[in-house]
Amino acid sequence: MLIVGIVGAGTMGSGIAQVAIAAGENVKFFDPLPEATQRGKDMIKKNLDFLVSKQKLTIDESVDIFSRLDFIDSLNGLSSCDIVIEAIIENESVKKELFKNLESIVSSKSILATNTSSLSITALSNELKFPERLVGMHFFNPAPRMKLIEVVKGLKTSDVYIDYITNLAKRWGKAPVVTKSTPGFIVNRVARPFYGEALRVLAEFGADHTSIDRVIRDCGGFPLGPCQLMDLIGLDVNLSVTQSVYEATAFDPRYAPSLLQQELVRAGKLGRKSGEGFYIYPVEDSDPKSADTNEKCELSSCALGFIKSSGIQCLIDRLTDADADLIEATRDNTIATIALTDGRTATQRASDESISNLVLIDLCISFKTTKLVALSHAEQCDPLALDEIVYALNSIGCEVIIIQDVAGMIVSRTVAMLANEAADLVYQRITSPEEVDMAMTLGTGYPIGPLLWADRIGVQNISTILKHLCEHYGSSRYRISPLIQRKSITNQTFHEA
Ligand code: NAD
Repeated sequence: MLIVGIVGAGTMGSGIAQVAIAAGENVKFFDPLPEATQRGKDMIKKNLDFLVSKQKLTIDESVDIFSRLDFIDSLNGLSSCDIVIEAIIENESVKKELFKNLESIVSSKSILATNTSSLSITALSNELKFPERLVGMHFFNPAPRMKLIEVVKGLKTSDVYIDYITNLAKRWGKAPVVTKSTPGFIVNRVARPFYGEALRVLAEFGADHTSIDRVIRDCGGFPLGPCQLMDLIGLDVNLSVTQSVYEATAFDPRYAPSLLQQELVRAGKLGRKSGEGFYIYPVEDSDPKSADTNEKCELSSCALGFIKSSGIQCLIDRLTDADADLIEATRDNTIATIALTDGRTATQRASDESISNLVLIDLCISFKTTKLVALSHAEQCDPLALDEIVYALNSIGCEVIIIQDVAGMIVSRTVAMLANEAADLVYQRITSPEEVDMAMTLGTGYPIGPLLWADRIGVQNISTILKHLCEHYGSSRYRISPLIQRKSITNQTFHEA
């Protein structure tokens, strides 16, 4: 049984304290603000009572667990701790000051850990007498529920302490992933495009926020849409993580903060906590209008065409099973042609391939089961041709959302960028394909790791989407990770089949 010190009794400190006492450790808990300490105490008590009400704990177990929590009124009370974890405000100089004070209080054998979500572990340790004992131990919110812990190694952190924290995390029932101290670590870095691409589509009026959220959830299989999630996290908090990654990467355009998000923050529209963000709370029923004609239009005597790709074959099969008049498209044999987006706008692709009535479909996690699809169409497309496609999709039980002709649509560009970001971390030897995928599924609830998703879609297809986005925007924001390039050329996957 260890003596664990926790400094900071806010959201994260309280959650971490609960994890440690539930795992059988004794915790000494410190916050300079008495009201914060009280709030932390109440929160832990309430969570334990909830577990009792759900019969996950007995009353005796809950009393025993709570008795291992010792509230102390000065940092000096941490002198006997084997490990001290800080969860105070996200400010480099305040955290550095705290660690310097702690070094003069705890024994030379104690380990120091920080729950920082964005600061460099190397920077936090650089004025310490024993920088090798400072480790990043990044929990996710809510700490008692989220399995992932990023164990972060600064340049001077010793492997002995990394192994120690990794084993401790496992003992506490968590799934640790070791990573180097880089901007955003794994999860906060790879997740940037999840928000960034949605904000770009919004800024281009490609779709409204409710449509984006629905498409990402119901087509992409993500648990929450990006706008919903930003509202939940707090637009200001989300923006500050983006800003910190942007600054720490010497203003790499990939992480450039969105003007639209900055304006919302300036207006005090911070999401749920301020009552308004992308949505107004309580959320009104604002489902996007979907295209559902259910009436067959004039041009139905001609066949619909599709451009063959393995990605949408399941959808084509569903349509064929429902007796849709569907043939593989050549230049002029069909009234309307449907194709999976490859990162070009429909208008560009229609011109490149001389198909005037071209309708693009966004990526779905499962075309076999999806009940929603997003379509965009070329400027040259006859509205009746679009109606034909909507009608056919409705007839197999697929609702349709029509978005503007934005390059890479919504899910495709998001998944391509998530995979690109994950691939860069693997390329830079910050993590492995297995670990980045595990971190993203456990830390964010993504339906599938971005690199496994890339393998399924085909790394070459991801590379094509990024190449087209890069050409369309003329921006290095969409530059292809060297590892995606390499795997795409050699036709390799990230994971073994
Ligand atoms: P919070 O504001 O809820 O709590 C911070 C607590 O630290 C407050 O109770 C405050 O009184 C106390 N504090 C401030 N300065 C202090 C000092 N000098 N010494 C001792 N205590 C001090 O913050 P939080 O959301 O719990 O975040 C804490 C840390 O965890 C931050 O580094 C944050 O980046 C990180 N983090 C937050 C989340 C999240 O979702 N909130 C997730 C992962 C990591």
